[in-house]
Amino acid sequence: MPGTIVVALGGNAILQPGQKGTFEEQMENVKITASQLARLILKGNRLVITHGNGPQVGRILQQQSMGEYGGIPPMPLFVCGAMSQGMIGYMVQQALYNEFRKLGIDRTVVTLVSQVIVDTKDPAFSNPTKPIGAFYSQQEAMKAQKDRGEVWKEDSGRGWRRVVPSPPPGGLLEISAVKALINHGAVVIASGGGGIPVAVRDTGEVTGIDAVIDKDLAAEKLAEEVDADVLLILTDVSHVAINYKTHLQQNLTAVTAEELSDYYEQGHFKAGSMGPKVKAALKFVENGGRMAVITSLGNALLGAEGRAGTVVTRKAVVENIAGI
Ligand code: ADP
Ligand code: MG
Repeated sequence: MPGTIVVALGGNAILQPGQKGTFEEQMENVKITASQLARLILKGNRLVITHGNGPQVGRILQQQSMGEYGGIPPMPLFVCGAMSQGMIGYMVQQALYNEFRKLGIDRTVVTLVSQVIVDTKDPAFSNPTKPIGAFYSQQEAMKAQKDRGEVWKEDSGRGWRRVVPSPPPGGLLEISAVKALINHGAVVIASGGGGIPVAVRDTGEVTGIDAVIDKDLAAEKLAEEVDADVLLILTDVSHVAINYKTHLQQNLTAVTAEELSDYYEQGHFKAGSMGPKVKAALKFVENGGRMAVITSLGNALLGAEGRAGTVVTRKAVVENIAGI
């Protein structure tokens, strides 16, 4: 049964490990991704797409600091986030347009610069954990701490990196536009890179915040807000596993939220990679979503139907899959 699917694209959908990150390389990856996504449209689904931006925003930040030597003022992290949304959105938008054209699909694809509200009183702000950008020397790190009040940490002998808070996502400021666009039949790309974090000031004004919102948690929030049937998290592994990378590794296929939650508590999923995906999947089905699926990009079509990957449902797994 077709429905509304929120698709969260992992880093590998845009840039493969080991690649330099040229425009051509990224566009090539995005074209492969687009051909998968177009098949979901052919099945009659409505799509809202979101994506990671780690490597892209890291490079934009580096370009900012390089430009500074030439007298060009660097933009803050939240503006770099906006740049990355536009850049990645443009590539996905164009690749989908071309794919739709080939397949005779008449759908507009639109990217929304997305602001996501965060609570600056959240404990995440007193303990920045998310490393961003390139590695620098201790001297440069100290200077940035002193001049700009940034927080920098030494990263396992590899050098110094800036760390920023990683608060949970509040609402998407432009959610009504997302809904209107989907109802209009458009394919929407929103909340890229987890969204641009903004804080609501005492005056009611919103302003950008230097932080990084996890893209899987932001995807979950978006999925709830658009009342999606399926949250489809596409990454570089086909399944969520317990005892990952040990001789006891076991891939999870159909799993209830209760079972998965137990595995989460037992520490099977790494923070910063599989952890937030599992958390997002759990939250989505616990809050009434029909099904959350975590699988690889190549499994997108079967995954969306609960026929591949790790399929998470509240209960009555068999019934749920049959009902899709
Ligand atoms: P993405 O860019 O898609 O968000 P991440 O690197 O953040 O990708 O997360 C996917 C990675 O999570 C996989 O490549 C895998 O190495 C890692 N991972 C950690 N724990 C697990 C687990 N228990 N089962 C499967 N993969 C895991
Ligand atoms: Mg990730």
